[in-house]
Amino acid sequence: MKNQYDCIIIGAGPGGLQAAIHLARYNRKVILIDQGGGRTRHALHMENYLGLEPSSGKAFVDTGIRQIKSFGAAFKREQVASVRVGHGFMVSTNNDRYQAPYVVVSSGVKENPPAIEGMNRFFARSVFTCVDCDGYRTTAKKLVILGDSLAAMRLAFAMKQMFTPDITLILPAGLVPDDHAALLAEDGITLVVGTPGEFLGDPGLAGVKLIGGQEIPCEVVMLSYSYTLNDSYLASLALNRDGSGALVTSEPAGETSIPNLFAVGALRRGKAQAIIAAGQGAVVGIEINGRLLDL
Ligand SMILES: Cc1cc2nc3c(=O)[nH]c(=O)nc-3n(C[C@H](O)[C@H](O)[C@H](O)COP(=O)(O)OP(=O)(O)OC[C@H]3O[C@@H](n4cnc5c(N)ncnc54)[C@H](O)[C@@H]3O)c2cc1C
Repeated sequence: MKNQYDCIIIGAGPGGLQAAIHLARYNRKVILIDQGGGRTRHALHMENYLGLEPSSGKAFVDTGIRQIKSFGAAFKREQVASVRVGHGFMVSTNNDRYQAPYVVVSSGVKENPPAIEGMNRFFARSVFTCVDCDGYRTTAKKLVILGDSLAAMRLAFAMKQMFTPDITLILPAGLVPDDHAALLAEDGITLVVGTPGEFLGDPGLAGVKLIGGQEIPCEVVMLSYSYTLNDSYLASLALNRDGSGALVTSEPAGETSIPNLFAVGALRRGKAQAIIAAGQGAVVGIEINGRLLDL
């Protein structure tokens, strides 16, 4: 049948790409379907990946796509609309349908920051979202933390311990109880109540302007907002999830609660780092190949 594969991989995150490399190098028939974009592509300075010279996430992903193709994996720039369980899995995209006994989901998450003017100019340059990725880049700099929950306050204490003493935390009114505000003051963290409206500066970031006009000078910003999983195409499947919605998978195989459906990267419970996702992809690729072997 047309479009019948050994494994369909959804999303060109590092985990999906690594699973494709392993499976393609076992001469399995594998396809990776990716709609473009993604968090890894947004990273401008990946410098915490063993053996990789500091590089952009875009270069990293583009190299990965060339690498999977070089081993014979198929690659389609399409958006997956649904995954259904029948005889194996049926994956439908905006363009076609694909079938396989194994599926790997690697479609990641997206951030939900509020609309702040200038976000696109500064995002990933001096406005960051991930402490493990970019916390280091805030070392000894004038930092503003923006958020919408008390998680931003915990982040402020952590940033103070690791990276910089000069922190202003901007939160909406009514969020921080008085005793917490006192703890922040004790730690030398400035608390400002307000709503961010604009990032200031040209070409470099110079500050945050609040709705109402107050300007807070800074060199770097850390965002602390929620994430949404890119998994609407899994909506019809009753998958086991944790309290945050992340997919619960078996250890070490990475299999979800639906047999032969595997998850890697930020969709899955755990830490969202490229090197972790790639490791998960290697495990999943080896596991699926083991199941495909008829021994
Ligand atoms: C600004 C920034 C900097 C970062 N810096 C680092 C760093 O320095 N080091 C590090 O280790 N990590 C870094 N990260 C985090 C890291 O990139 C990811 O968390 C990690 O690589 C895991 O990505 P992922 O595999 O979950 O998904 P992603 O990289 O987000 O990839 C998911 C892919 O799936 C695709 N997709 C989504 N939905 C569909 C669909 N329905 N159909 C088809 N395709 C779909 C997306 O288009 C995307 O290509 C950074 C993230 C950001 C945002």
